[in-house]
Amino acid sequence: MSVDPGPDDHRPRGLGFVCDVLNGPPTAAAWSAAATAHGGRELGGRDVVEDRLAAAVRTLRGIFATPDAETAAGRLNAVLAAPPLPVALARTDDGRWALRPAVPADADAASSLLAIGAFALAERLSDRGRCAWGVCAASDCDRVFVDEGRRRPQRFCTERCATRTRVAAHRARSAAPAPDAATPAGG
Ligand SMILES: [Zn+2]
Repeated sequence: MSVDPGPDDHRPRGLGFVCDVLNGPPTAAAWSAAATAHGGRELGGRDVVEDRLAAAVRTLRGIFATPDAETAAGRLNAVLAAPPLPVALARTDDGRWALRPAVPADADAASSLLAIGAFALAERLSDRGRCAWGVCAASDCDRVFVDEGRRRPQRFCTERCATRTRVAAHRARSAAPAPDAATPAGG
């Protein structure tokens, strides 16, 4: 007898889960680990076709890289339109009601990710009125993130990447070639 899915089943339907998947490799192991970490073991057991999952990740990463709301909305609508995505009211773990994608049980990982990701990003865009997300601006990092910046848009995935970039820029400035400070002789 199937029981009502616990609140845990609703938790992986959010942006935290989506970011984890997009920041990892598009493999069955990473998919399962991300879903389990967000309390969605059932979701983690879905069929992973790596090519399809990689394509879904690329699609969503393209939206994360879009700062323009009009463009992002167009792309999100394209994902939301095909195939038709059923939604359902679900109880979140803090007892609130939320509208969530009702991803069919036989949908594979790639379809599930597209449905969950597009829905969560669309919700974010309508909540914040802007593309409150991004791809890290650090030169050696391409992690996606949810922009929690209140005053100005967030550019880095973490404080660590922001600090590292600031330090590198500072070093580059200090190392700017003074005309007669030639390369140290060394040795
Ligand atoms: Zn970063």
